[in-house]
Amino acid sequence: MNERETLKINRLGHLEIGGADTVDLAKEFGTPLYVFDEAHIRNMMRVYKTTIEKEYDGNGLVLYASKAFSCEAVYAIAREEGIGVDVVSGGEFYTALKAGFPADKAYMHGNNKLVRELEFALDNGIGNIVIDSYREADILNDLAKKRGIKQNVLIRTNPGVEAHTHAFVQTARTDSKFGFSIGDGAAEDITRHVLSKENLVLKGYHCHIGSQIFEKQSFIIAAEKVMDFIASIKQKLGFEACVLNIGGGFGVWYTDEDPKLKLSDYADYLKALIGAVKTKAAEHGLNKPYLLIEPGRSIVGEAGITLYTVGAIKDIKGIKKYVAIDGGMFDNPRYALYQSKYTVLLADRAGEECTEKVTIAGKCCESGDIIAVDVPLPEAESGNILAVLTTGAYNYSMASNYNRNFIPAAVLVNDGKAEYIVKPQTYEDLIRNDVIPERLKK
Ligand SMILES: *Cc1c(COP(=O)(O)O)cnc(C)c1O
Repeated sequence: MNERETLKINRLGHLEIGGADTVDLAKEFGTPLYVFDEAHIRNMMRVYKTTIEKEYDGNGLVLYASKAFSCEAVYAIAREEGIGVDVVSGGEFYTALKAGFPADKAYMHGNNKLVRELEFALDNGIGNIVIDSYREADILNDLAKKRGIKQNVLIRTNPGVEAHTHAFVQTARTDSKFGFSIGDGAAEDITRHVLSKENLVLKGYHCHIGSQIFEKQSFIIAAEKVMDFIASIKQKLGFEACVLNIGGGFGVWYTDEDPKLKLSDYADYLKALIGAVKTKAAEHGLNKPYLLIEPGRSIVGEAGITLYTVGAIKDIKGIKKYVAIDGGMFDNPRYALYQSKYTVLLADRAGEECTEKVTIAGKCCESGDIIAVDVPLPEAESGNILAVLTTGAYNYSMASNYNRNFIPAAVLVNDGKAEYIVKPQTYEDLIRNDVIPERLKK
C-alpha cells in the first residue's frame, strides 16, 4: 500500500475510506452520499506545492481548479494548504470568498464571462483574470477604469496540442472554443490589444490542453510552445511575460484501463514540465516565469466515492441485468455525457468474488441514466450498499435536481470521522425559488 491508499477492505469485508467504514457512513448519513477523504485531497495539494518548491525555488503557485468540486470546505482546505484557486464563474468565486479564501490568490476563467461576473470579481479584489475574448478585454478595461484600478490579467492561448483524451475534454485543438491560437497569429494580435489597454496589466499567458491526460509529452510540448511564443512576443513587441500558467489535466484512475499513479508520479509530471520551462527559458534568454498549474481532477477525483443503496434488480434473461440505485445522472452525469467508465463494488460485500456482469442504472426517467455498463459484481441484492469509486471530481459539481431528485449530501472523512460539508436537501429546498403567479392560485 502506498501513501495515497484512500480505500481498503476491512475485516468485516466492508469498504473503508480514510479509515471510515462505508457501511456505517451509509447508516449514519443515508444514501446517496458523496464521501471525501481529506487526507487524500491534502496530499495531492502538497505534492504539487512541494514540487514547485523543490524543483523551481518556489517560484510559482498551485491553483486548485475548483470546478472539479466546489463547496466552501474545499476552499477552506486550499486556504490552509497555502495554494490558490481557479474559478470559472461568479458563483465559484463567491463560494471561495464565503469560505474566507484570499481573493488575490484567485484566478478567473471562462470563455464568456458575464459583465456582472467581471464586476463582482473586480469589486472583490480578484487576483487575476484570464482573458479569453476581445469583448472581455474591452469590457474589463472599462470596468477597471471606472473603478480606478489596474487589473492583472493573463491571456488564454491555444498551443494546438492534441492530447489523447475524449473530444469533449480536449480544449487546445485549433477548433476549440477556448483561447487564442498561437499558430495563426491570433494570440499575438490579442496581446497587442491587451497591451494597449491602460487599465489592464498583462502578466503573461495561460494554456490548458485538456483533461484526464497521462502522456507527459503532451504537457511538455504545450509548455515548450508557449515558451517559444513568449520569446517571439518579446522579440516582436518588447513585452516579456513574467507568468506562465500551464493549466491542469493530470489524469486519475477510474478503472484498470487507467494507470494508478503514485504521489511521486504526479511529482514527476510536474518535474518534467518544469524541466521543459527551464530549458526553454535558458534557450531563449528569458527570465524563468512565475509558474502556475491548475490541477482539479487529480486533487479531488480519487479522494471521493459515492455510496448508493441497491433497489430494484431487473434481469432481462440472456440480454442484460440492471441493478438500480437510489442515485443516477442527477448526482453523476458523466456516463450520460462522456460514456465515462467507473469501478463499482458492493461496499458491504467488498471482499466477495464478482460472479456476474451488471449494468448500474439510475432512478431517473431517462433510458440514458446509467452509471456503468456491464461491470463485474457479486450477485447484488436489494439493500446492498453500492460504491462507485473516483467520483470526487465532476460529480457533485455537475449534479442537478433533474426529476426533482435531491442532490446528495457530501461528507468529509478525517481520521476515520465524517462530517457534513454539504448538507442533504429537503423537499422545501426544491421549491424554494418556485413562484405561483397570483392568477394561478386557487
Ligand atoms: C477544467 C480546467 C482545469 C482543470 O482540469 P483537470 O483536468 O480537472 O485538472 C484547469 N484549468 C482550466 C482552464 C480548466 O478549464
